Amino acid sequence: MLGFVLDDVFLGHRAPSGHPERPARAEAVRDALLAADIAGRGRHIAARAVTDEELARVHAPAYLDELAKAVPGRTGWLDADTYFSPGTWEAARLAAGATSQLAIDVMDGALSQGISVVRPPGHHATRDRAMGFCLLNNVAVAAAAARARGAARVAIVDWDVHHGNGTQDIFWDDPTVMYLSVHQYPYYPGTGAPTEIGGPNAKGTTVNVGLPGGSGDVEYAAVFDHVFVPALTKFQPDLILVSAGFDAFQHDPLAGMRVTHEGFAAMAQRLRALADRICGGRIVAVLEGGYDLDGLAGGMTRVLSAFAAPGAILPAVAAMPLHPVARAAIEGTLAAHAAAGVPIPSISTPGQAP
Ligand SMILES: [Zn+2]
Repeated sequence: MLGFVLDDVFLGHRAPSGHPERPARAEAVRDALLAADIAGRGRHIAARAVTDEELARVHAPAYLDELAKAVPGRTGWLDADTYFSPGTWEAARLAAGATSQLAIDVMDGALSQGISVVRPPGHHATRDRAMGFCLLNNVAVAAAAARARGAARVAIVDWDVHHGNGTQDIFWDDPTVMYLSVHQYPYYPGTGAPTEIGGPNAKGTTVNVGLPGGSGDVEYAAVFDHVFVPALTKFQPDLILVSAGFDAFQHDPLAGMRVTHEGFAAMAQRLRALADRICGGRIVAVLEGGYDLDGLAGGMTRVLSAFAAPGAILPAVAAMPLHPVARAAIEGTLAAHAAAGVPIPSISTPGQAP
């Protein structure tokens, strides 16, 4: 049974002035998922607050103290991009707690898959700093919760158009949590080079593919087929978490990619099929960015369709011609891992038939 988090408390996080990270984003996803009968295809899981113990696994005590003093009941900014309002503290604590609970329920077998429609987003929040609209790193809290619940290894796949520098930072030197990101590069926040592969104790468990602006469905599918699927198959996680941002959508106002709804479907289908093959189907997606309402609604609906479907077969490796810069990016990631002695066993040359 798929579990889902969909709660109006996440609408209470409101910018003091016009801001792209706005409540209408979650409303658009909620309305689309309800129209797609998520209530008939899964079970609603009430959001609960994150515990101090869960937060302490991924955030520094001084940072948590700073947030607890500055944010509750107030309005202001933590950096040039990251606002808070009187509803923010409750929303942020429930966003992290709800996502964590889905991961725990999936690890326990109470749920098979999960979809967490929350805000504020989390993947830019580092161990000790809020940034990029993010206060608490929801997906990192969930990964650490799954580890505490018995998962030997957890993988986080981040297809938000921005590099999830916070998640990378938190698990940089942790060999039990693999972080894989495909993002527009170079772009905000500036991290995510192919040579960023993890710390001395965790070489190869950070995987970055930075695609050029203008990349679309074919390039994203190629990243999954040539890099992410082989890397995840080698890593053998017990749970796959997805930082599901939809700002690589073709009409997103903050970025320059060309992914369509069907491109998000292709990524979600690959991960669902891979999860069935390597980790008992255990997969949980959490909303990150995405600033075009149609991209958000259509994208998350495709994730629901992929996650709620019975075990699919991995699609054949995409052999469509790739943009040469995208192809070079994929080859650059494979080369960086090979050079560090932690090769990703890619199955064929990107852009050619296997
Ligand atoms: Zn983003």
